[in-house]
Amino acid sequence: WSAETIAVVTGANRGIGFEIAHQLGLHGLTVVLTSRETAVGEEAAKVLQEGGLNVVFHQLDVLDQESIDSFCAWIKENYGGIDILKKCYMPLSAYWVPLNSIMGRGLYMTCTYQCKLVQINNAGFNHNIGSENSVEFAEKVISTNYVGTKNMIKATIPLMRPNAAGARIVTVSSRLGRLNGRKNRISDDEVRHQLEDVDSLSEELIDATVNKFLEQVKDGTWTSGGWPQNNTDYSLSKLAVNAYTRLVARDLADRPEGEKIYINCYCPGWVKTAMTGWAGQVTPEEGADTAVWLSLLPDMRVSGKFFAERREIHF
Ligand code: NDP
Repeated sequence: WSAETIAVVTGANRGIGFEIAHQLGLHGLTVVLTSRETAVGEEAAKVLQEGGLNVVFHQLDVLDQESIDSFCAWIKENYGGIDILKKCYMPLSAYWVPLNSIMGRGLYMTCTYQCKLVQINNAGFNHNIGSENSVEFAEKVISTNYVGTKNMIKATIPLMRPNAAGARIVTVSSRLGRLNGRKNRISDDEVRHQLEDVDSLSEELIDATVNKFLEQVKDGTWTSGGWPQNNTDYSLSKLAVNAYTRLVARDLADRPEGEKIYINCYCPGWVKTAMTGWAGQVTPEEGADTAVWLSLLPDMRVSGKFFAERREIHF
């Protein structure tokens, strides 16, 4: 891996996201550390830059489409992405299209620069700590964790100009969002079955599921809706992200060799961060490990899967 691979990490100013940015930087990638707050993001990036890592900061709020759009425009302008014509010397590398012009004394070619992009969707929000189960912030939880992640995936896929190793999308999810966990699952068998059947899965179905919950939150009937019982809004947001991961993996599966994009999600464990009131069992360094592993796996052939501690687990 080299600085030619651009790794974008959302919500990287602290917690697991910061540690993912740190570890990817240690592996030699160019890391775009993003944060919705410019001052804290710049401060976090400075810490990593002072450690000698190739880290740049850009503002990014996954709840703000304008922010996503201007971020993507910046990525395109600075790191290529879509058909940037550029002159460069030989030798040919894996990223250049065949020679098509020779100019002057040196051997030049006009070529298409391909942006090798790794996209880590880490930004997330949970209002409840421990066994609390308020749905006061359900809309914000679902928007940040599911809609924000979905919008980022939609916006960055067109920027990906994969190479032989394939471009990667990794989303930080949670075991709380398991479809078929023994505890804490949606009780309606039919809804679970619909969300499990990847062939008939659709964005509309996932949206309809979370919207039904949000409507029940508004009219006060959610407690009898058969939703996951622990951290209900957060669990459902991660269940939706997991389903969306499988959906996108299905839709990207037909891409030819050399244009592959692999998308997976993982649970970092119960991590000592602000989100858990620092009450978790593992450090942010440990929580970041599977994201970094999935981002860098040399022979990636897996897509639409759920991982924890570097192993595949059931949705
Ligand atoms: P933190 O609360 O420490 O970090 C969350 C990060 O997300 C912060 O940087 C926060 O920014 C950012 N964020 C929130 N909303 C937005 C937004 N709209 N746009 C951009 N960034 C945003 O939590 P963790 O590090 O623990 O969580 C990271 C991820 O890991 C989350 O997706 C979480 O759900 C997941 N996870 C965490 C577990 C844990 O035990 N900690 C367990 C399972 C999953 P700001 O500082 O501005 O608020």
